[in-house]
Amino acid sequence: MKALVFNDVRNVTCSTTPDPELLHPTDVIVKTDLTAVCGSDLHVYHGRESGLDAGTVMGHEFIGEVVETGSAVKNFRKGDKVFSPFFSSCGDCFYCENDLACRCEKGRLFGWVENGIGLQGVQAEYARVPLADSTLWKIDDGIHAEEALLLCDILPTGYFCADMAGVQPGGAYAVVGCGPVGLLGIIALREMGAEKIIAIDLVEERRKMAMAFGATETIDGRQDDVEGQVRYLTEGRGADAVLELVGSEPAQALAYQIVRPGGTLSVVGVHNHKGFAFTPDDLYNKNLTYRTGRCPVQRYLPVLTRLVQSGKYDFRSLISHRMPLREGENAYRIFDQKLEGCTKIVLQPD
Ligand SMILES: [Zn+2]
Ligand SMILES: [Zn+2]
Repeated sequence: MKALVFNDVRNVTCSTTPDPELLHPTDVIVKTDLTAVCGSDLHVYHGRESGLDAGTVMGHEFIGEVVETGSAVKNFRKGDKVFSPFFSSCGDCFYCENDLACRCEKGRLFGWVENGIGLQGVQAEYARVPLADSTLWKIDDGIHAEEALLLCDILPTGYFCADMAGVQPGGAYAVVGCGPVGLLGIIALREMGAEKIIAIDLVEERRKMAMAFGATETIDGRQDDVEGQVRYLTEGRGADAVLELVGSEPAQALAYQIVRPGGTLSVVGVHNHKGFAFTPDDLYNKNLTYRTGRCPVQRYLPVLTRLVQSGKYDFRSLISHRMPLREGENAYRIFDQKLEGCTKIVLQPD
């Protein structure tokens, strides 16, 4: 099959690799209809996250059709249209039972194979899904294929980030980083009753999109006094919580500066640097709560399915590029360099 394969740092190519096969009775094989490139693919691409074996198929966001089922699979049949959270999960360990399937004892991330162990990715014509009964989800009526694709990761992750902020009706919230996940976080804040949503980004186009998605104010992150502007907008205090979706030290430092005492930093940006931009004492001195982690996607799928079905938001407008899978190498380049106003790229196998 054709797949986007990690060869080395900044070297991902559309190559021919073996078709996946059923390895366990609980596996299914999905024929990919659509797959997406995600910000976290770039961590691998640039070697900020290292350890991935050369030859690993990239990617973790996909929808498709079940074409083969293992003998123990009960909930899925050939022909079912499905999507999956970006990791597998068993459904009955301590973490799965406590609504934290992202830490499943048997769970694996799609697109991460290290020293021969792990799970191949889904930027490919076919994908093997382990523990299919507990990992896969059917695409409900009224959900467009591209919307289902957003449910694999970025829509739940944006919602999770807002959820960790502990939104109180009437509160003021700042969003640092208005890429696709940040924009979805803005929608979630709005849905949860936030009154003031301050969107901060370096890119004008993204600030405009933030306003369209429900931000009430925007700040150009390149300006000198972002902290002063946030204070000006929050009666001098700072934001009740800051959603940080960038994953860099400057973003982390900014989030600290603009949160009010007693507030929360809610972080889904992946920080590959060592240490913090602030000290434990800094946290103490502002009585802050720091919340972070991988999104437990399953927790939010019921509420997000209903939100998508309601038609209230144009989620598909987040997708800027639709390309064939065979142009994946170019897609990574465009996505990485944010060329052509790129926000999210969807790839379709031929
Ligand atoms: Zn993703
Ligand atoms: Zn589990």
